[in-house]
Amino acid sequence: MADKVFNLEAALAYDRDHIWHPYTSMIAPDPVYPVVSANGVMLKLADGRELIDGMSSWWAAIHGYNHPRLNEAAIEQLGKMAHVMFGGLTHPAAIGLVERLLAICPRGLDKVFFCDSGSVSVEVALKMALQYWQAQGETEKHRFIALSGGYHGDTFGAMSVCDPVTGMHHLFRSVLPKHFFAPRPGCRFDQTWNPCDVEGLEKLFQEHAGDCAALILEPVVQGAGGMWFYHPDYLKAARDLCDRYDVLLIADEIATGFGRTGRLFACGHAGIAPDILCVGKALTGGYLSLAATLCTADIAETISHGEAGCFMHGPTFMGNPLACTIAAASIDLLLASDWQSRIGRIESGLKEGLAPCSDLPGVTDVRVLGAIGVVEMAAPVRIAAVQKLLMERGVWLRPFGRLIYTMPPYLINDAELGHLAGEIFAVIEQLAKIGI
Ligand code: PMP
Repeated sequence: MADKVFNLEAALAYDRDHIWHPYTSMIAPDPVYPVVSANGVMLKLADGRELIDGMSSWWAAIHGYNHPRLNEAAIEQLGKMAHVMFGGLTHPAAIGLVERLLAICPRGLDKVFFCDSGSVSVEVALKMALQYWQAQGETEKHRFIALSGGYHGDTFGAMSVCDPVTGMHHLFRSVLPKHFFAPRPGCRFDQTWNPCDVEGLEKLFQEHAGDCAALILEPVVQGAGGMWFYHPDYLKAARDLCDRYDVLLIADEIATGFGRTGRLFACGHAGIAPDILCVGKALTGGYLSLAATLCTADIAETISHGEAGCFMHGPTFMGNPLACTIAAASIDLLLASDWQSRIGRIESGLKEGLAPCSDLPGVTDVRVLGAIGVVEMAAPVRIAAVQKLLMERGVWLRPFGRLIYTMPPYLINDAELGHLAGEIFAVIEQLAKIGI
């Protein structure tokens, strides 16, 4: 195999024969493109092409690639230790990161559980909610309320609270626990708030709150379930329902955290704080897989008073020092930057650049919030074909479903942003002409 690595075609054939890629067929796969390096906002392909990255590696690379400060933090930590078990040991990397997280996260959150990925942090959040009620003898509170259009990850617990249709519940019906789904919030982020929007959710609380440990939602932006931006007052109403009906609120900010929507956390748009918060993705600036589940002191203490005497979870790579060090450096970098005006600039640039798409045939909606731009099409997008057209124009995106969307690294400059939005327009225009 060593030889094949140097032979591009053979390496690609080997990849096709042996390596799973996300949501990709093993018998009729869409192409994958070899990347040899990445720097700033650019990805460099093996054939020499350079592409503007409009995806931030799925929300994660907020500072772009190969950032000197993050590299330096990684190298410094490597000289000390890459990893050490967290059971019975601790280290400055984890402590330093927790100090930073607690300083910026929504108020009231006080305890941090480190996880290896976003999906695991959702599993941890669900288990925390269950153990919290169990510890108080409320064993009947073992179900969850979630939102249609939501996405929370690919492990079993996370899948069970994803939208039943886009989350493909029918494939796993026999093993997935059944939870309750409220209609997708209908009132858009910038519309006048319509209190009727929350009626479906309220009905679920009226009927099932006694059986439910928590409501889980992605605040303001539903990501992989449809890139939908809903009204912050929905979130306020949800917080209020949780308080009135004794149900915990879990905010999944794995995609929205660390500034993406224009607030450090999307909960900030509504001025609310959850009881449990999941963060991941941009936590390490996209360098390594690390996530965290934060909760209130009350939840942590109640769980610790329960039958088990502790929270029943403990991943091998919990609190990995290398990932924690990079995450701390990434938060420092973010806070030291003028991130709010950067996001504001990206928002204006995307609004201006994508607005003309509304007039193109096949486009049903264009929406922008913070550093996220979405063009919704009437029909499913042929991903491989559209990706190829975009790449010919120097842009990297990965559309899904009916959505062509972008969330670029925050350091993208005006010219790059103009190019990105302009090429999205040009490709959609081209699609109409060639009938793709
Ligand atoms: N929750 C949300 C809102 C996400 O966007 C994702 C990742 N797409 C996850 C959870 C799962 O995270 P991971 O892929 O790191 O397991």
